[in-house]
Amino acid sequence: ALHGGADAGPAAGLPAWVGALAAPAAEPLAFAAGGVEWLAPCTPEAVDAALAETPDAWLLAGGTDVGLWVTKQLREPRRWIRLGAVAALHVREAGAADFEIGAAVSLADAFELMRTDYPELDRYWARFASPAIRASGTLVGNLANGSPIGDSAPVLIALGARVVLRRAGDAGPVRRELPLEALYRDYRVQDRAPGEWLERVRIPRRAPGRRVLAAKLSKRVEQDISAVSLAISCEDTHGALRGVRIALGGMAGVVRRAPAAEAVLEGVAPSLERFVRAGAALATDFAPLDDMRASREYRLAAGAGLLERAWHAWYGSGPVGVEDPALDAVGAADAGSPR
Ligand SMILES: Cc1cc2nc3c(=O)[nH]c(=O)nc-3n(C[C@H](O)[C@H](O)[C@H](O)COP(=O)(O)OP(=O)(O)OC[C@H]3O[C@@H](n4cnc5c(N)ncnc54)[C@H](O)[C@@H]3O)c2cc1C
Repeated sequence: ALHGGADAGPAAGLPAWVGALAAPAAEPLAFAAGGVEWLAPCTPEAVDAALAETPDAWLLAGGTDVGLWVTKQLREPRRWIRLGAVAALHVREAGAADFEIGAAVSLADAFELMRTDYPELDRYWARFASPAIRASGTLVGNLANGSPIGDSAPVLIALGARVVLRRAGDAGPVRRELPLEALYRDYRVQDRAPGEWLERVRIPRRAPGRRVLAAKLSKRVEQDISAVSLAISCEDTHGALRGVRIALGGMAGVVRRAPAAEAVLEGVAPSLERFVRAGAALATDFAPLDDMRASREYRLAAGAGLLERAWHAWYGSGPVGVEDPALDAVGAADAGSPR
């Protein structure tokens, strides 16, 4: 199933065969072995049709999540549908209003595109897994997997991203566009009809005066899963914060916005006192669970600390700031001193 392709080059610094693995193909591929079917269609319509026929088929993007279901959980679908062969899903464009990122675009390529407008996210993205995973895993796969501790959803929700869903209809594809946060209804429950899949994500280009900050807390700096992650975005014009969007991972069964905390900051002049109050409002927004990564108390205190960090990063001159790598290494184990 190795398809070469000139327009799907490997991520920077990786060997050419990595690109070939993910490249679009001119011919579809289908075979069956051991009762399991493997399809690699070349058009989105063929993906629609295959999913309409078998809605319980497993879509395969980069395989960095779904591969573990096979190797660790010893599960297997009756049908695989690989997305990487569909050229249209490799779309990666900076439009006037949005970045358009298709379902086959790797995390590395998506992050590189977003760097055009949001270079301050680079450090956060560097905390996502490892270069190898970022080269094979896709951004849309991370959103589709919908983990409550997935790292891209908080940022994309804070930026106001929308996902485009599609499925087969009687007269061609039926598409829906949803704010990303509306996709996630409950733990592992998404607003998706049978046979519906994610075609692409649209991420708004940067508006003038928009501030963005994202932070991830985990026990290790590299290759570790978040205990808590937070992203905040707002416009800071004419002395007041507008369009405040705050999203957190690790605080609920899904990555969610924090409406009470947002309300504390919306329309007011930025001050440390307001950011501290917004942090306290997280206890209204969330009732996090205790688990092996962090306690409920730690998660609430850490979320509040990250909001406070946003104020220091944007307006403060003190020693606490996102430029200090040691801060990112503050782990969930260090529950006594979330900053
Ligand atoms: C070592 C390691 C470290 C990791 N570290 C992190 C980390 O730091 N942060 C983090 O957030 N994640 C991490 N992950 C998880 C994983 O890498 C990401 O979630 C990745 O973005 C998944 O993308 P993928 O293309 O590999 O998805 P796949 O594994 O191919 O698919 C994931 C799920 O989404 C479904 N799916 C894929 N594409 C679509 C689509 N277009 N429409 C509908 N359903 C679809 C699949 O059927 C499957 O259920 C890590 C994984 C590993 C193995």
